[in-house]
Amino acid sequence: MLNDLFDSKKPPQGFWISSEAFSLLEAHNCLPGLGEAQPKLGDSEVASVQILSLTEFEKARLEGGLGPETGTLIVTSSEGEAIAALSNGADDALLLPASPTMVELVLKRLSAKVTERRALLEKLTVNERVSEEMSILNETLQVASRRFQDLFNGLPVACFTLDRDGFIQEWNSLATKIFGLQPWEAFGFPVWDVMDPDGTGSWSYQRVNDLFIAEDGYEFDWAFTKNDGEDVYLACKVICLCDSRGNRVAAIAGSIDITARVIAERKVELTMRELKSKNDALVLHEGKLQKALKQLEELATTDGLTGLSNRRQFQNFLADAVSRFHRNGKPFSLLLFDVDHFKQFNDGFGHQAGDQVLKKVGSILRKTARSNEKPARYGGEEFAIVLEGASGDSAKLAAERFRVAIQEGKWAHREVTVSVGISTFEPHLSEVEFIERADQALYESKRKGRNCSTHYRELDSQMIA
Ligand code: GH3
Ligand code: MG
Ligand code: MG
Repeated sequence: MLNDLFDSKKPPQGFWISSEAFSLLEAHNCLPGLGEAQPKLGDSEVASVQILSLTEFEKARLEGGLGPETGTLIVTSSEGEAIAALSNGADDALLLPASPTMVELVLKRLSAKVTERRALLEKLTVNERVSEEMSILNETLQVASRRFQDLFNGLPVACFTLDRDGFIQEWNSLATKIFGLQPWEAFGFPVWDVMDPDGTGSWSYQRVNDLFIAEDGYEFDWAFTKNDGEDVYLACKVICLCDSRGNRVAAIAGSIDITARVIAERKVELTMRELKSKNDALVLHEGKLQKALKQLEELATTDGLTGLSNRRQFQNFLADAVSRFHRNGKPFSLLLFDVDHFKQFNDGFGHQAGDQVLKKVGSILRKTARSNEKPARYGGEEFAIVLEGASGDSAKLAAERFRVAIQEGKWAHREVTVSVGISTFEPHLSEVEFIERADQALYESKRKGRNCSTHYRELDSQMIA
């Protein structure tokens, strides 16, 4: 085909030759545009092109829909036309007449050139697509970044971000409000310089290290002193941000203002402390009161001179013994003591010395008494002992034990003796009658000559009457 074409005496003025299988595009003068392509050379694609002038080569190429992927070769017998075509963008030119070998070589060269150009074009297309995707991605990223900024800024929590070295990277509007610091006063500075200039330890290099290696998030409470001296108390939660490989590269620290809560807690603590100290004082007071009451009770039941139970307490002992007797029939007896010739002693050695005697009698009675024997000062130089569980015989033995103990005491001025009256309780007796019996027995001891003991039962009936 090509041979026929190029051998003809009247070669056409120009040919468009696409690179595909050397298909030939024929251009005739005054023919319609390239759009009306029609097969002419066997299987190859052929289109007629009207080229008004070769100086409009490029225009025709564009209007005809031939893209850069189509190779163009001008085949002409006019060197002027060839030059014009080449200077207007034709890929190659072939001057006629030309041998088929020459045509083939030129076409091969054109084909290689077009193949190369197509590869380049494909690359360019890929690059363009990538760049387009990149620009979409970039835009998406910008939108995401703007959203993050809006979100970060609008969070109802004071937030700032830190890089791995603890330098502040972002600062939201509530942080500005709560900490009283503008973003530019915080950006790019180490967090401990901005948040903890006094080095209290709320923020430190160590804490930044800890929060980046903490396994389950990181939370702590801290305090911040504003420029105006006001203290703000905060509860902080830190979340680490990772890069695409999962490395922790930054952290967001969100702090909630808990000043009101801390102040309330402190008030409660203070009130509790005050209450506790008041309570302690009350307990102390109550202890003192108890002690005073005990002292008062002791005073009320103790005889001041001898330290023995007084008469009132003696009456209590007696009442207890009587009620126990009525409950379980437990026997008990009473001893009444009276110092012999005590008036003489007072008269001879003075009242003070008399007091000393009474004191010593009391002391001997106390030391001689067993656990069931309750000694008391009955009044003046008289003493009484309730003997719990004592029947008449054992009461007599006890009376003698006490009497002898006093007689054998070491006395300063002269021997001191006592006379003793004994009575053992009986169910029909009143307390008064019971004491009365002991008194009568005491009187009998005096009558017998003193320094002795008498049981009521020893009195003969006449005496009793
Ligand atoms: P009797 O052997 O008969 O008991 O003789 P008495 O002198 O002890 O008897 P009296 O009842 O006449 O005297 C008792 C005296 O005890 C009278 C009183 O001065 C004295 N007396 C009473 N209470 C106290 C006291 O607390 N201290 C002193 N020093 N003497 C007292
Ligand atoms: Mg007396
Ligand atoms: Mg006496």
